[in-house]
Amino acid sequence: MSVQERTYIMVKPDGVQRGIVGDIISRFEKRGFKLTALKLVHATPAHLEEHYADLKGKAFFPGLIKYMASGPVVAMVWTGLDAVKTGRVMLGATNPLASAPGTIRGDYALAVGRNICHGSDAVESAEKEIKLWFPEGVVQYTNDNEKWVFE
Ligand code: GDP
Ligand code: MG
Repeated sequence: MSVQERTYIMVKPDGVQRGIVGDIISRFEKRGFKLTALKLVHATPAHLEEHYADLKGKAFFPGLIKYMASGPVVAMVWTGLDAVKTGRVMLGATNPLASAPGTIRGDYALAVGRNICHGSDAVESAEKEIKLWFPEGVVQYTNDNEKWVFE
């Protein structure tokens, strides 16, 4: 079985401070995704500006960088079937008020500027983000559960 789509998922500083890291990891594990990289990192503003380069110029950009640099984040790569799109569905809408209950943002957040988690929005941006956050590379291994998750 070879399902190699990967997505970059990040618990933002508010998610770390509020103690939601374990729940977010647990949701991806239980769904059947394979954890392929994980680290706690207090990112610099410059690194975050690169991560959010497509939003440069937005009025909320300076506040976003300050928020994201305010504490450590949990950077992760999850691999599996339709990982990018399904990861976004699990996160919920960007504005938590529009996120369905049962999604991460819909269960834990109210404000767009404190929305707990990040997930790549396309396969191409996922690969870019994985390179930015894990220049050392990710971990290659076989998860023996895969035959129970995929046909
Ligand atoms: P995402 O892909 O769902 O995270 O949304 P975007 O890529 O559009 O925006 C990145 C992040 O910027 C969001 O997750 C929010 O934390 C923040 N953000 C987006 N829009 C707004 C806004 O209108 N106001 C504020 N304060 N933050 C925003
Ligand atoms: Mg985005």
